[in-house]
Amino acid sequence: MSKIKFPTKILQPLRKQLQSEELKLKKRQENLNTEDPFNDGDRLNDNAAVDADAAEEFGHDRVSALKLEVDKTLINIRKTLTKIKLGRFGLCDNCGRMIDTDRLAIDPTVSKCIRCAVEK
Ligand SMILES: [Zn+2]
Repeated sequence: MSKIKFPTKILQPLRKQLQSEELKLKKRQENLNTEDPFNDGDRLNDNAAVDADAAEEFGHDRVSALKLEVDKTLINIRKTLTKIKLGRFGLCDNCGRMIDTDRLAIDPTVSKCIRCAVEK
């Protein structure tokens, strides 16, 4: 297994960046929770028209999709932070080889090398 490690001067700012990204996404998650019409406490009490229900349904679906997206990104960020801590940043989750640094430069949270990402 590859023993190459990224220098601290690269990992330190990257960790900071990921941590601030994590915070931002957590805020976004909270905002989405309050945006979701299904979380409206008055909802059960109101005898709204069918139209309003449809609008709520649509709003809920939209918010759900956004939430899923944010969840996914958050998981990737946390996984990457863990890998940094373990000294495994930049290594493929699947085969343990170094991930192409060009790939990491575009998205530091990629977890697989190009070969494993293509093979699936
Ligand atoms: Zn791989």
